[in-house]
Amino acid sequence: MQIKTILNRVRKFKSFVYGSVRCIEGASVPTLEIELQPRLNTRAVCSGCGVKRPGYDRLPERRFEFVPMWGHKVFFVYAPRRVECFDCGIRVERLPWVAGKRRLTDAYTWFLAGWAKRLSWQQVAAAFRTSWDHVFCSVERAVVWGRAHQDLSGVQAIGVDEIAWQRGHRYLTLGYQIDSHCKRLLWIGEKRTVRSLLRFFRWFGKERSQALGFICSDMWKPYLKVIAKKAGQAIHILDRFHIMSHLSKAIDEVRAQETKELKAKGYEPVLTKTRWLLLKRPENLTDQQDTKLSELLQYNLRSIRSYLLKEEFQLFWWYISPYWAGVFLDKWCTKTMRSKIEPMKKVARLLRRHRPLLLNWFRAKKQFSSGIVEEFNTKAKLTTRKAYGFRTYHATEIALYHALGALPVPKITHELF
Ligand SMILES: [Zn+2]
Repeated sequence: MQIKTILNRVRKFKSFVYGSVRCIEGASVPTLEIELQPRLNTRAVCSGCGVKRPGYDRLPERRFEFVPMWGHKVFFVYAPRRVECFDCGIRVERLPWVAGKRRLTDAYTWFLAGWAKRLSWQQVAAAFRTSWDHVFCSVERAVVWGRAHQDLSGVQAIGVDEIAWQRGHRYLTLGYQIDSHCKRLLWIGEKRTVRSLLRFFRWFGKERSQALGFICSDMWKPYLKVIAKKAGQAIHILDRFHIMSHLSKAIDEVRAQETKELKAKGYEPVLTKTRWLLLKRPENLTDQQDTKLSELLQYNLRSIRSYLLKEEFQLFWWYISPYWAGVFLDKWCTKTMRSKIEPMKKVARLLRRHRPLLLNWFRAKKQFSSGIVEEFNTKAKLTTRKAYGFRTYHATEIALYHALGALPVPKITHELF
């Protein structure tokens, strides 16, 4: 069997045929060159208008990198024709294996982009002996293609979230689809301002925004404002993950403050190294941590009382009726307001202010995938952290869309791997 035969099986072109296959001696990496020729009696297609036009001349041979094979780099070699087009003038012909003036064939581009979903970009570059830039360009093209071809119909529920990006307080706003049948990242924007979210809605379109049934978000004021304005008909839900993280942050603050005070007064340092005891869910503690927690609970410390308040609040999510959930919420807030622990009181005030939105959770409970915002948040952080090369916003954006966008791919991807 010849290499040509295999190529014709995976990548057959109507107007071009494979010619000889040469092995290049003395190259730093073993290299195969596969010659391509126009099929007899076919005319070249103008790259400007896509119509068959009479030939003009032929350019020197060019190499286009194809999917590597058995440790060999593989190149297509072809001398492009130029056409004399009535509409566009003298133009290079359109080639079915490559877009524009690129050096990587479409097949290789999709191949690299596909692997970049499974491995880090660095690893892909190393595995296929190519550069980080080639991997990046491939992923970028896959994202641009995928976003142009994705189907946005039927989106019922969306989640809005933000992640800190780079060091300091730079944020990204992320919009997800969180329907139970389809979960994906839809949109990314810089910062977390009114304007960021307005840009999301502008991109998403008025009609689609007004057809939304559910929106899940944090209690971040700019978001609340924009959501009310742009999709007022949707049930707005404050998600569990963000509310619980407000409580965790409060506990952290109380504990840090109290540790300092105890130290200053010369008490036994019972609170040092207890951060995770108080933040982890009890069922996730190790035996040793569990014992330590029991010891800690004997002290009547503000940290401990805050911890117990947070654990008690977990019960809130188990209610079925919004009415009784509301009763529970009011009681919890009253109790917390009496605790005299300022960071906890702050959360209680916040929850009181957003009572109707909090209770929407029970109205919408089974109609969207509730844990998904947290899941996406974790994955998004991992994606931005994993890639050291993402110094720019653009690269971060591309990486996130590629990892979380569930973007469509063309048929060619299935043929090659
Ligand atoms: Zn033309």
